[in-house]
Amino acid sequence: MQKRKVNHEESAVSKTIDRRTFLQLSAATVAGSAITLSSPTAQSATKVKSSAHIVIAGAGAAGLTAANLLSKRLEGVKITLIDARKAHYYQPGFTLVAAGIKEANYVESTTAEYVPKGVELITESIVEFDPDANSVSTASGQTINYDYLILATGLSLDYEAISGMDQNRIGTQGLGSMYHSPEKAHATWKLLDKFADTGGNGVFLRPNTEMKCAGAPLKYAFITEDHLVRRGNRSKANLVYNANNNSLFGVPIVHEKLRMLFEQRDIAINYNHILSAIDIDKQIATFSTPNGLVEQEYDFINVVPPMRAAAAVRNSPLPWQSGPWAEDGWVEVNKNNLRHERYPNIFAVGDIAGVPKGKTAASVKWQVPVAVDHLVADIQGNTSDAFYDGYTSCPMVTRLGRAMLIEFDYHNNLTPSFPGIIAPLEELWISWVMKTMALKPTYISMLRGRA
Ligand SMILES: Cc1cc2nc3c(=O)[nH]c(=O)nc-3n(C[C@H](O)[C@H](O)[C@H](O)COP(=O)(O)OP(=O)(O)OC[C@H]3O[C@@H](n4cnc5c(N)ncnc54)[C@H](O)[C@@H]3O)c2cc1C
Repeated sequence: MQKRKVNHEESAVSKTIDRRTFLQLSAATVAGSAITLSSPTAQSATKVKSSAHIVIAGAGAAGLTAANLLSKRLEGVKITLIDARKAHYYQPGFTLVAAGIKEANYVESTTAEYVPKGVELITESIVEFDPDANSVSTASGQTINYDYLILATGLSLDYEAISGMDQNRIGTQGLGSMYHSPEKAHATWKLLDKFADTGGNGVFLRPNTEMKCAGAPLKYAFITEDHLVRRGNRSKANLVYNANNNSLFGVPIVHEKLRMLFEQRDIAINYNHILSAIDIDKQIATFSTPNGLVEQEYDFINVVPPMRAAAAVRNSPLPWQSGPWAEDGWVEVNKNNLRHERYPNIFAVGDIAGVPKGKTAASVKWQVPVAVDHLVADIQGNTSDAFYDGYTSCPMVTRLGRAMLIEFDYHNNLTPSFPGIIAPLEELWISWVMKTMALKPTYISMLRGRA
């Protein structure tokens, strides 16, 4: 009687045990000593065995890094990467292409060359996330179930939000936009090249949303000014930078430094100016300001569109439900471990993560190992103390041959990697060399899970 009762209870428990708990128990059994190791370095020595299925949505900087790190840490798992784009773009190089320093092919490669052995790549878009059913659906109608999901879909550029904007016309009539693609970054360079000869009104701006590499629009204003100076045509041009709020940069000390540099270089600043419309034929940009709409005529403009989560993410239960990151669909994760606050088997890394700072490849480098460590620990039925404190960096090019390597965290602390060697707020040649020569190899190593 007693025996039967126990069996009955066991079967009730096994019915309620979910697949994640089952996987944890299996991993705990097979991983043996690996379960006690907590640092990523230590754990990489012994692979953790598991039969879990991990889906990675998006195979850009964060998705590929995650796939490679997971492959190095786990054995027996099924990892599926899903992304329709076959090309891989080294986006930090877009600024260099638009500056005329690199050709468009400098930033182009293929996703496939970074996909680790054994990882399945599905070249499709995800159109629906159903976290309650632990599944995603692709454009062709496939439904793919997962035990863990890593969300790495980056962000989408919302050009449509700017009235009158036509992406096809980027590269014509002074309409530049280096964020769009390698081709349009190169087309933007062609416009800048012409503008540096003719002069006129150069208009720069940033959107009133979270954005990737918030330093890039500022860099581009400096680079334009430098090209004009080098051609002896600075006096022929008026340059203006339109900030979306009352600051040039989120870190106050950096804002002040940039404000002084803009003043020295005679680049005018408008605060609280948000691009709302553009007349491409008449070359007039219209900004919303606290005092109403303001028009600016331009001969050259670098349009930086609003940025939001991809529609499939925005329309799912995954974004923040309230607060500053809800409206644009940024995913509700814990800012220190990138784990979803409501769905513990989901992590979001890279630009899609709804965290206070850092939509940069530099953040990806520090976020992904933390998320991976928590995921692997979870597979083992363990916990991880890996912690991300918001590190991000911005190599702020101030002229050709000079940059400031600005690194900071969630608390606006400057966090220089080379204290005493590279001063964050000084315009240095060495910081320029890092941006133009060292960053790409570091980025590629990161994709391969080696950096
Ligand atoms: C002009 C410019 C300058 C920059 N400068 C710097 C810099 O100096 N330093 C720096 O650190 N960073 C810089 N960045 C930012 C950096 O490139 C990004 O922060 C980084 O690429 C983010 O990685 P991610 O994986 O989140 O997004 P991405 O690398 O953009 O990858 C996202 C992937 O998700 C895919 N995807 C989207 N939607 C779906 C879907 N529904 N289903 C499946 N897949 C999907 C996309 O196709 C894409 O491949 C710059 C970016 C730009 C554009």
